[in-house]
Amino acid sequence: MERLLEIKDLYVEYQTDDARVFAVNGINLKVGKGETLGLVGETGAGKTTTALSIMRLLPEKVGKIKGGTIILNGKDVTAATEADMRLLRGETVSMIFQDPMTSLNPVLTVGDQIAEVLDLHKKYRNKEEVESRVDEILKMVGLPPERKNDYPHQFSGGMKQRIVIAIALACEPLLLLADEPTTALDVTIQAQVLALMDELKQNLNTAMILITHDLGVVAKSCDRVAIMYAGEIIETGTVEQIFSGDHHHPYTVGLFESIPDLKKKTRRLHPIDGLMPDPTDLPEGCKFHTRCPQCMDICKNKIPSPMEKEGHVICCHLYNETTD
Ligand code: SF4
Repeated sequence: MERLLEIKDLYVEYQTDDARVFAVNGINLKVGKGETLGLVGETGAGKTTTALSIMRLLPEKVGKIKGGTIILNGKDVTAATEADMRLLRGETVSMIFQDPMTSLNPVLTVGDQIAEVLDLHKKYRNKEEVESRVDEILKMVGLPPERKNDYPHQFSGGMKQRIVIAIALACEPLLLLADEPTTALDVTIQAQVLALMDELKQNLNTAMILITHDLGVVAKSCDRVAIMYAGEIIETGTVEQIFSGDHHHPYTVGLFESIPDLKKKTRRLHPIDGLMPDPTDLPEGCKFHTRCPQCMDICKNKIPSPMEKEGHVICCHLYNETTD
């Protein structure tokens, strides 16, 4: 598969008045054209920071890419100028943010908000062409074009998310970053929005990074999965490799064990004990060692190196040949 995105050894930090937050700590990721990668992990694992780094939309002066490269469609995003980024955003990469309620402008009609993106990239020659493309995009996401003159507050939550998707896909980007696109929606609308995203992805051959903590969504919509913990990718593989097979990172095992199984009679769920480490003061060695039921001495002071088998990568001393 032709490569669209390659992240190499990416480090991102946030510097606040009194702390240095180590948000992303040396991650490597690849996404092929038309491929969907699920980026999974608890809140605070660094998923959104990774996406914001690809868009180069980290909070100004606070968030900084400290090392590594992000090659998107042959261009190094970390070295691109702001003018280059304005062209890349929308046309090459686009993002759907978590909450549709806050990502739309309340004082502009939805038609104007879609037209704004098209105008910015000057893809259409005149107002009529822009208007007809706005109608087309609204139809594509299942909304009647007549509603283009309505304001965001006149739409339901699910419809608002469709509009956000419409804006993100307006310029038919090669890569879509969807950050928990269904978290703020109820279950039936969630299913509709995911089905819509799948359909649009097929039609436009858009690659996608789907950020979620919902493994059900990953199983349904993704080709490959990367599991993040404390700013690191601790396991990656195809959906089959992650959802089956005997070898997994203990954190991945914990994630699966914490999902309720309707076929089994259980009194209690099995959450992963403890909390994610403080990102301003990360532990030495394996970042998961403070919560890992299989922790060994070596885990407390040596960072495990990745072990790869047929594209399935696990970072854990249990699988490192060099452990003993
Ligand atoms: Fe557990 Fe050690 Fe593996 Fe980390 S490296 S996940 S502490 S066994």
